[in-house]
Amino acid sequence: MKVLVIGSGAREHAIVWKIAQSERVSKIYCAPGNGGISQIAECVNIKAEDIDTLLAFALKEEIDLTVVGPEAPLVAGIVDRFTEKGLKVFGPNREGARLEGSKVYSKKFMEKYNIPTAKYKTYNSYEDVKNELSEYNYPLVIKADGLAAGKGVIICQELQEAEDAIESIMVDKKFGESGDRIVVEEFLEGIEASLLCFVDGKNIVPMESARDYKKAFDGDKGPNTGGMGCFSPNPIFTDGLKERIRKEILDKVIEGFKKEKIDFKGVLFIGLMITDEGPKVLEFNVRFGDPEAEVVLPRLESDIIDIFEKTIDGRLEKEDLKWSTKKSLCVIAASGGYPIKYEKGKEINGLDKIDDDVIVFHGGTKKEDGKLYTNGGRVLAVTSLRDDMESVRKVVYDNIERIKFQDMYYRKDIGDAIDN
Ligand code: AMP
Repeated sequence: MKVLVIGSGAREHAIVWKIAQSERVSKIYCAPGNGGISQIAECVNIKAEDIDTLLAFALKEEIDLTVVGPEAPLVAGIVDRFTEKGLKVFGPNREGARLEGSKVYSKKFMEKYNIPTAKYKTYNSYEDVKNELSEYNYPLVIKADGLAAGKGVIICQELQEAEDAIESIMVDKKFGESGDRIVVEEFLEGIEASLLCFVDGKNIVPMESARDYKKAFDGDKGPNTGGMGCFSPNPIFTDGLKERIRKEILDKVIEGFKKEKIDFKGVLFIGLMITDEGPKVLEFNVRFGDPEAEVVLPRLESDIIDIFEKTIDGRLEKEDLKWSTKKSLCVIAASGGYPIKYEKGKEINGLDKIDDDVIVFHGGTKKEDGKLYTNGGRVLAVTSLRDDMESVRKVVYDNIERIKFQDMYYRKDIGDAIDN
């Protein structure tokens, strides 16, 4: 089979790495890919949002399966366009992708199908929300409706911050049209957890759990990032909690898909807050998480091509997913200043000193004249698998220290105090 993967992050590197293990695959392309992906796939210089050019490429190369990594092309309808031309593609169609593409839509979906979530109100006028902000309790959460590269959620400690947030989103149009509407919602207290699932149109099959670390610095300090580290499995997912999530969330999502006639095929990533009252949904995403993919996919023992095909064909069973019992952990090596302001183009050294059983997934890297340079905020995801958390933490941290680039930083507390 010839496979095309769309995207350029460590998540796509993990997807390509897993696909490369399939005996059914003879050729992998990645558009646009990155420095690490280019070692195991042919990178094609087409942007992930350039659907016309991607489609022309897939038709010309007679691609048998396309796997879409990031949300933007899914929300823009890449799956509908490929399917119309008879191409097989993994990911939800435009209708399904609205669950991530519009927070207003996704909150209404949750409300309609009685899926537990934070109380909320939506607004499409700046004046209306401004007049009501003083009536809310704080902290208060303000969310831009559309995609905002993971930056559209603002947690406001007091009224002034909320006023600044709505002004930047709705007046200054910080996120463009994504800020035409906003969701104002109750701040939920609890422990955050995420659950990735395959959805084949009729069935939701959860993957192994993971826990990511969103804050930039140790002890969950500093600004929110795309994720600075991750491990799997996440011990918060006890059998009791899994059962509640199945009954109170997954079954209702499937009921909603059925009633709304949404043919959702792909990955559904559910961001949860485990509160005193039980699990509540913070958000839906419609693709693999990054860094969740980097720790979950290395634990998958089944052929991922079979899983993708069964999902697309609507015949995925829980038993199709075979998982390693080992623990996985990854730590992100980031550019100094990320996520606010950082430089690119720093030479990366030390990758030749990494142990054979440690995997370095590349995020923002670029290869030039045989040398590797930084090309983004999250640069590398250093990952390994071991029988227990203590050993995997040790091997990942031993190895990440061998990697050097100017102003590199990483969190030192990923997986601390987790002893499962
Ligand atoms: P989202 O993109 O909706 O997951 O939001 C990004 C992050 O904001 C989440 O991972 C949470 O840390 C935080 N967040 C979002 N909604 C809420 C909420 N209602 N209460 C508390 N924290 C939230």
